[in-house]
Amino acid sequence: MKITDLRVQLISAKLSRPYWMSLEPYQTSSEIVVEIETDTGVVGIGEVHGRPLEQISAILTDVFAPVLRGRNPLEHSAIWEELFLYAHSRRGAALSGSHGQPHFGAGARPQLMAAIAGVDLALWDLKGKLLGVPVYKLLGGSNPRVPSYASGGYYGPEGEPAIAALVAEMTSYTALGFTAVKMKVGGQPLNIDVDRVRAVREAVGPTVDIMLDANSAYDVPEAIRAARAFEPFAPRWLEEPLRWYDSVFGLGEVSRATDIPVASGESEMHRWACRDLILHGGVRIMQFDSTRAGGATEWLRVAAYAAAHGVLMAPHHDPQIHGHLVAAVPNGHVLEVFPNKQRDPLWDELYLHRPEVVDGVYTLPDRPGFGIELNPDALQKYGYS
Ligand SMILES: [Mg+2]
Repeated sequence: MKITDLRVQLISAKLSRPYWMSLEPYQTSSEIVVEIETDTGVVGIGEVHGRPLEQISAILTDVFAPVLRGRNPLEHSAIWEELFLYAHSRRGAALSGSHGQPHFGAGARPQLMAAIAGVDLALWDLKGKLLGVPVYKLLGGSNPRVPSYASGGYYGPEGEPAIAALVAEMTSYTALGFTAVKMKVGGQPLNIDVDRVRAVREAVGPTVDIMLDANSAYDVPEAIRAARAFEPFAPRWLEEPLRWYDSVFGLGEVSRATDIPVASGESEMHRWACRDLILHGGVRIMQFDSTRAGGATEWLRVAAYAAAHGVLMAPHHDPQIHGHLVAAVPNGHVLEVFPNKQRDPLWDELYLHRPEVVDGVYTLPDRPGFGIELNPDALQKYGYS
């Protein structure tokens, strides 16, 4: 059995209502679809949730495709190591140059790890299809029903608090049966964010879990102050409270200063960074995203390390992929889904047979691989290459 080719489709949908995360505006929803073709006729589909799209696509088609053609697609682990060489050896020299000088690979690393994710996930999908089983069963899982939470609670189109819209959005999720909802903090002065959290707590009542995501907004004293101010509203977790430059040791200080469990990991590129978040950052909920970096192979390594430290896995984004992984590991915790069409038109339109989420439970499809079937109309509407 051989890999014959690799195809990439870029997908980008402009949002009808842009919004702000804590620090940045969000105006489009995008995804990269990677298809690996084989001489069996079976095609594996992987997805990448990374950017810039064109840079990741160029690594996939210009650098990785020639390495993959002719390889046995079942050798996912050996292929992973070979592609990873581009991140730490002379193999990657051509990727790291700029104007005739090296910049030590740093500029291309996130895109490289995202490209590895796309290949690796396509190989896992292919494996499932060749064996005729969903990925979660291939990995040894048995229960297709995965707990999920509704993610949203952003700031308004200009970054404003938008409390009435926030409350309407969060209660729309509980009306759908979700028992856990996530909202942003960190984008407004603390007293205003406290008002936002209070308004949501009062609207959803005491039994719904509220997760708070700060999108790396605070320094250590601000994060500790914020955590203490949010504690009366009993958040289920506080996510990425710290700015990118002090997100490990500083996070340890924050974790020790609050009873709120700290979550992080969606911005990490590999297992070593996740190890440090657990060992030094006091992270209780690990959110490593297999579609942003490293694929399922790296995610499973992170999950095994986390399990040995009592840390739960709650991966960022892309439930159509992560549902299988959460269902397959003993510390699989909860899945992030985006029920708001304005926030995630791709989740709404890109897939045929999209899994149902009923009362917050996401049921994995009983189709081989990840069970992804792309909607040709959506590809036509949002795709380009
Ligand atoms: Mg987040």
